[in-house]
Amino acid sequence: MSKSLQAIRGMNDILPEQTPLWRYLEGTVARLLDNYGYKQIRMPIVEFTELFKRSIGEVTDIVEKEMYTFEDRNGDSLTLRPEGTAACVRAVLEHGITGGGQVQKLWYIGPMFRHERPQKGRYRQFHQIGLEVFNLDGPDIDAELIIMTWRLWGELGIRDAVKLELNSLGTSESRGRYREALVEYLLAHHDKLDEDSQRRLKTNPLRVLDTKNAETQAVLVDAPKMADYLDDESRAHFEGLKARLDAVGIPYVLNPKLVRGLDYYSKTVFEWVTDKLGAQGTVCAGGRYDGLVEQMGGKPTTGVGFAMGIERLVLMLETLEQIPEEISRQVDVYLCAFGEEAELAGLALAERVRDQLPNLRLQVNAGAGSFKSQFKKADKSGALYALILGDDEMAQQVVGFKPLRGQGEQQSIAWDALAAHLATCVVQG
Ligand code: ATP
Ligand code: MG
Repeated sequence: MSKSLQAIRGMNDILPEQTPLWRYLEGTVARLLDNYGYKQIRMPIVEFTELFKRSIGEVTDIVEKEMYTFEDRNGDSLTLRPEGTAACVRAVLEHGITGGGQVQKLWYIGPMFRHERPQKGRYRQFHQIGLEVFNLDGPDIDAELIIMTWRLWGELGIRDAVKLELNSLGTSESRGRYREALVEYLLAHHDKLDEDSQRRLKTNPLRVLDTKNAETQAVLVDAPKMADYLDDESRAHFEGLKARLDAVGIPYVLNPKLVRGLDYYSKTVFEWVTDKLGAQGTVCAGGRYDGLVEQMGGKPTTGVGFAMGIERLVLMLETLEQIPEEISRQVDVYLCAFGEEAELAGLALAERVRDQLPNLRLQVNAGAGSFKSQFKKADKSGALYALILGDDEMAQQVVGFKPLRGQGEQQSIAWDALAAHLATCVVQG
């Protein structure tokens, strides 16, 4: 195939054999968030570039080198969203739904775009489920976010493979004081830092903390500790969060080097990490951003949220073989009809059955075909039962009911009794 007809590198098709797992995952998350009282919001995929510069921060990896930015026909600079928080904050401000301290507990799902080097677990179009809570400033809501994800890992069967890392960045004032102390220390060891860290020291010094470079890591061993600079309020908040996680029995590891890539975090930051996916080990990340809404032009409004990467979770389910068997079967019953008259009767019969059993997954054979070919298709569909309408069945106004997975003999069922019979033998989702 010529190059112009291929998908863009790092932007993947999700093929029909993969979508059941995606839908299972998305459905599980959506149900869980519903049950905890969160409401879905949907934002556009494209926003003014300025939005991301202002919210994410000019000197972050995302804004510096990962955004898909282009001019539209009006000459406006637009960007494919690299994450969801900025647009969500814009939306709540634009519609005034956080005004007067109104609490909003929101979630969203959809594609995000970052120009990164594609590899396992890292793509240029990827998908996130994100969540943001506005106007609740206590550690109880931070805890709820973590508790919900903990429940999700349990439901998905991957709880043993993920670990919670936790840190507090303090308020912007205490973080500022810490940043000064860190910069002073790192400047004294400037020559031993790797090039990237030397650059970050100037632009975004806290990010030096999550360097992968061994020499820089050695320098960091004796660096000032963020915890020593925490203000009392942040300290109490962090203790409150830990007490709640302890109460529910959720284990965590304190990671003083966890700073997150974005400028806007304050107080709580957390990541759920796994060692099952190689280098791309973070499956869900989030934190508190009490200053962001004001920074974006709104009234002071606290916020806390997280985002999880759907591709990485799908990889986890596959790697850990936690794929529920029932999701791969998409057909309960397959109707075969032989001859024109039977085909017409079969169509009408199928619709009557669907009226009575709206959740039944009933596939009607299309494209006619011999006995052999229709049975082959019925079997391949994964159906549990085949329904058969041939000359004999037409004459007697019955349908042949044939178990395809080895449970018993074929029987004849009167047309009027078919729905009731199916209701007893097919468990409906
Ligand atoms: P990483 O350190 O892996 O680059 P990040 O800190 O840039 O992650 P966030 O911006 O916090 O990631 O996004 C939240 C989640 O979205 C990540 O934990 C990850 O699961 C997922 N994610 C981020 N970037 C990508 C990507 N390029 N491809 C696939 N998933 C991604
Ligand atoms: Mg990244």
